[in-house]
Amino acid sequence: MKTYGLLGYPLGHSFSKGFFTKKFKAEGLSDHEYINFAYSEITEAVKHLRGNPEILGFNITIPHKVNILPYLDSMDPLCSAIQSCNCVKVEKGRWKGFNTDVLGFEYSLNPLLKPAHKNALVFGTGGASKAIVFVLRKLGMEVLQVSRTPGKGVASYEALSVDILKTHTVWVNTTPVGLAPDSESVLPLDFNQIGSAHLVYDLIYNPEKSKLLQKAAQMGATIKNGMEMLVIQAEESWKIWKS
Ligand code: NAP
Repeated sequence: MKTYGLLGYPLGHSFSKGFFTKKFKAEGLSDHEYINFAYSEITEAVKHLRGNPEILGFNITIPHKVNILPYLDSMDPLCSAIQSCNCVKVEKGRWKGFNTDVLGFEYSLNPLLKPAHKNALVFGTGGASKAIVFVLRKLGMEVLQVSRTPGKGVASYEALSVDILKTHTVWVNTTPVGLAPDSESVLPLDFNQIGSAHLVYDLIYNPEKSKLLQKAAQMGATIKNGMEMLVIQAEESWKIWKS
């Protein structure tokens, strides 16, 4: 068997297994499989995955995109620049890290951008946020990251003034807040400051319209969920594994 999979924890919400299983079937690849590797501890995951010669590649999701870095044998330049990995290719037992979230986010965001989108707020400082911040800065935006534990250049939710919320017209949620089954949860933000010039992007795709996106839509903002990004990053992973 040629085995691919998704490493993360928990994996209840995972889309990738269904996506690749359908893809392999459609392409007649009956000796290919895509399975979930649900490990909360990265050391346990590495012990299991390293010893299996059938594993040719895997994706990585919450909470291991950064945890995996010390276990990679090499990284492609993008993965190395961002220091976050969501795709590993295994060749002769060696692990090479890639980041396909970058393309997924950039390609799905681009058609929605307007000249007024110059300042962005990125909620969360985990693995996915690194790809998001990288893309927004590459596009020339000023980015302010927001965290529950603020620090140098990273604001707290409480510190977001009316002015900041109004002038930062791109908001990106990279936290799991609002993800099913906790779909009633929402970040502690003053949604009244959202206007029609705002673009609110939530990396969450389940539910299709998170509480954050519902509130943003009510205020007239353009909204986008994480589904297109997810599909693009998966297609890019497949290109890497096939190459
Ligand atoms: P991660 O590395 O665990 O990071 C999540 C970050 O969210 C944490 O670092 C934390 O930042 C913040 N956070 C966690 N719990 C929170 C809470 N209760 N309240 C406020 N902030 C909280 O996870 P990840 O890999 O970056 O993934 C994050 C989310 O993005 C997941 O829901 C994942 O499914 C989604 N995602 C979607 C796609 C896609 O293609 N659509 C791709 C990647 C990720 P602070 O500690 O700084 O507050």
